[in-house]
Parts: sequence; structure tokens; C-alpha cells
Amino acid sequence: MTESKATPTLAQRDRAHVWHPYAPADSDAPLYGVTSADGVRLQLEDGREIIDGMSSWWCAVHGYNHPILNTAVNEQIQRMSHVMFGGLTHGPAVELAELLVQITPPALDRVFFSDSGSVAVEVALKMALQYWHATGQPQKQRFIALRSGYHGDTFGAMSVCDPVTGMHHLFGDVLPQHLFAPAPDCTFGSGCSSADMAPMRQLLSKNHDSVAAVILEPIVQGAGGMRFYDPAYLQQLSLLCEEFNCLLIFDEIATGFGRTGKLFALEHAEVVPDILCLGKALTGGYMSLAATLCNQRVANGISDGDAGAFMHGPTFMGNPLACAVACASIKLLLENDWQARVQRINNDLQQGLAPAAELPAVAEVRCLGAIGVIELHEPVNMAQIQPMFVERGVWLRPFGKLVYTMPPFITNSADIATLSAAMIDTIDSLC
Ligand SMILES: *Cc1c(COP(=O)(O)O)cnc(C)c1O
Repeated sequence: MTESKATPTLAQRDRAHVWHPYAPADSDAPLYGVTSADGVRLQLEDGREIIDGMSSWWCAVHGYNHPILNTAVNEQIQRMSHVMFGGLTHGPAVELAELLVQITPPALDRVFFSDSGSVAVEVALKMALQYWHATGQPQKQRFIALRSGYHGDTFGAMSVCDPVTGMHHLFGDVLPQHLFAPAPDCTFGSGCSSADMAPMRQLLSKNHDSVAAVILEPIVQGAGGMRFYDPAYLQQLSLLCEEFNCLLIFDEIATGFGRTGKLFALEHAEVVPDILCLGKALTGGYMSLAATLCNQRVANGISDGDAGAFMHGPTFMGNPLACAVACASIKLLLENDWQARVQRINNDLQQGLAPAAELPAVAEVRCLGAIGVIELHEPVNMAQIQPMFVERGVWLRPFGKLVYTMPPFITNSADIATLSAAMIDTIDSLC
């Protein structure tokens, strides 16, 4: 296709007015217009078709344009797109809450819906604060989080993200000051010693009077570094939280719905938190929706307190379109032997990425569930590497030193091989 001045491309028009994530307003970084998507392939406006190795930031577990998910949205839109959630309820929200309670540990039986992962985290933090306020310990106001953690971009969520990569210094005194334990050193499968737990134990033992909760991503620290740690860490942390009377919050926004090889990452450890955040793959990537689940201790504590209510309520809470497609997505997942699919992708990734370990630029190769990570010694140059992936027919978006893939669960072995080869060839030719 030749470019003419009369018909600028989407990408060219975008430059004038659109602001993209984590980018300057007038960014000249590579940008690609997408006109449609089907299965695991994105159709670019220049006619190229590329394999999506990112599941659109880890959400689109069933791929794109799925007939069952399309039908769920179409049928719901004929009935009603939205209705307020104060004083009203509807089938999709009730059914989704029932489904979520059914597939998560039995103790978590109350569901609060919101519109995005960050808000689900805000809700979790507010639940913890309100719980202690309502139960006579209002001084418990701080959180303990992990370094290399990521929990979202709104203020509360940002305040429990890694303080360095989360750029806390940019937001100065506005950001609440919380406590940070080192990222778990015990890699997945290596067990966890009392030395591994020592910093967390020390933080809790010194500060428990002022700590409301510990918040962390179970098993996989995602956007903060793609680190996999041992389930025993969570088991010991759960005991510590009991010992020091602090609530435990798991953020499964990235790990939920099969990504790590278990339906929820907490199943690796068989640990049940007081509060659980879900998002991303909840709707199979169709719409923005998140949920915060809690146990009766938290729900009753808040509800029986002075305020007598949980003080939160987004305008689009429990959006029927989003809830309907979430129900369809969860059922689709459960009916299609997701475990076998994730295991097969894991085998393909292990095999496909293994040769990367030989490259001098590579520090480590690691895979867990449907996550494949190549960690480099040096950060990649995104502007340089992005077009190289597209030329090789794949969509990958590395960050920092991490070149990784979290493909849709429907990705076949040939496409995983293409993704893996593109990662390796590109690193090899760049570094
Ligand atoms: C993506 C993510 C969030 C934030 O979700 P948004 O929908 O982007 O607000 C929070 N926690 C974790 C672990 C995530 O991966």
C-alpha cells in the first residue's frame, strides 16, 4: 500500500490527539492501527496479520471474536446494556457472583463489583481500613506490600506498588506511605526457609499495631518483574498474618482464571486470603470489569460497624454487558479443559524458549503455566524491538529487561513455536 496525504493512516491521525499509556503525549514510538482481531490474530491496517502473544495485557484468554462470547454480549444488549446498581439488581450480576463464589475458596462468599483492576484494589484497601475502623482498631491504617509488586495506577493501588518502578517520588507527599518487604527470594519450586520470611516477620512484628493488611500478588509478581515464587511463602505469610492479627489481601488480577496452571494461583498454596481481587481475564478480555471478594469476617465487621455500610459505589458497578460476558467466559473456560490447554502451552513454551538460555544477553528463562519469560541482562530498546517483532509476525510488548509472552489459551503449538522463535531471533540479532 502506498501512503497518500489524502488518506492518513489511523496511526498517523492518532499522533495528533491521542495519548497512549506510559508514553509522552507527542510520542514517536512505533504505533500500529488494528482493524479487527480473530482467534489469536490481530489484523493491522497495513494488511499484515500478527499472532498476539500478549492476550491484550493478559485478558483475552479465549482469543478474539469468539462466537460464544459475542453471543453473550449480543443477547444481553437486546435486553439492557446498563442499569444502576443502587437499589436494583439483575440476572448477569447475580449469576456472576454465584459463579465466582463457587469457583473460589468457600470462605470468600461476598462479591463487590467494580470497573477495573485498579479500582478492585482500591476497594480491597478500603475494605481493610473500614474493617479495622468498624471493629475498634482505627489505628490499623497502613499496608505491607512487596517490592517488585504491581497493583494498578490509581493512588491507593499505586501506593502499594514497588516504590521505585512505581515512581513514588513523582507523587511526593500525596501518596500514602506504606511498608515494603523485599520481593520473595524463594523461586517457584525451591521451598521457603524461615530466612526467606524473616524480613516480612520483622515488619509485622514491629508494625502490626498500625498495619491493616498485607497485600500481594500470589505466586507471580506480574508487571513489577514477572517473578515466580514458592507457594510455601504464602503459607507462612498466612500464619504470620494470623499471629499478628492483620488481614491478608491477594491480588489475582493477573494470575486468576488459569494463567499459572491453577484456576487461581492461591490454589498452589491452598491458602485463603480475607480479600481477593479479580480482573483482567474475568470477561475474557471483552469488557472492563473487576471484582473484590471477601469473607464473612470482613463483610460482617464492616456492616456491623458505626458506618453501617461499605463506602464505595462506581457508576457502572455490575454493568450487565460485562457481567454477562464474564459468566460466558468463565463457563467457556471450565468446559474446555483449560488445564490441559495451559499445560500444553507450558510444554511448548519450555521447549520453544529453552535455546534462549544459550544467548549471552539472556540472564534467565522461566515458564509457569501459560507464561514464558526471557529475562535479559540489560533493558530492551522498545522503539527498536517492537517493529522487529511485527516483521516476524508476532505481537509482543517487552518491558525493562523482560521479553515475555502470555498467549491466549487457544494458541496452538505452531503459533507458540512462532512466538518463541521470534523472541529468540530478535534478542539474538539485537544483543
Ligand atoms: C493489571 C493489574 C492491576 C490493575 O488493573 P487495571 O485493570 O489495569 O486497573 C492490578 N493488579 C495486578 C496484579 C495487575 O496485573
